[in-house]
Amino acid sequence: MEKTFFIIKPDGVQRGLVGEVLHRIEVRGFKLEALDMRMVTPELLSQHYEALVDRPFFPKIVDYMTSGPVIIGVFSGNEAIASWRKMMGATNPLEALPGTIRGDFAQAPSENGATFNIVHGSDSKESAQREMLLWFGKEV
Ligand code: UDP
Ligand code: MG
Repeated sequence: MEKTFFIIKPDGVQRGLVGEVLHRIEVRGFKLEALDMRMVTPELLSQHYEALVDRPFFPKIVDYMTSGPVIIGVFSGNEAIASWRKMMGATNPLEALPGTIRGDFAQAPSENGATFNIVHGSDSKESAQREMLLWFGKEV
């Protein structure tokens, strides 16, 4: 049994895809452990995306991720982290296969904006642990 941390990003919330995304998690057989809706601060984002803060596109990510409320959550199940990465699809929706969340609901990025791709998921056990503590302030 493994836990992963996920975000339904502002585009997912604004486009009414919260139910669709949570449904995919539930019908896959995963168990929701925590769920919340909130606005994100640039400070929290800098910690969350600590590996990306020095990239030229980071300000665009901040604009994107602070453009509206997000849903944050944790779910558990066998190989939850790798399964969710596959369910999300590739970072760039152009590369994301149909059947994945990004491949079904997002478009290729435009040249001058962030990559709007609906969802986030931890990419390792270490990031899952770090992100759960960062966003929920405790073990979930
Ligand atoms: N991102 C972006 N432009 C890029 C790379 C990333 O706007 O060139 C955004 C995109 O929303 C992505 C997030 O930053 O989901 C985090 O990037 P990462 O490489 O961690 O991709 P992910 O783990 O979300 O697939
Ligand atoms: Mg990532």
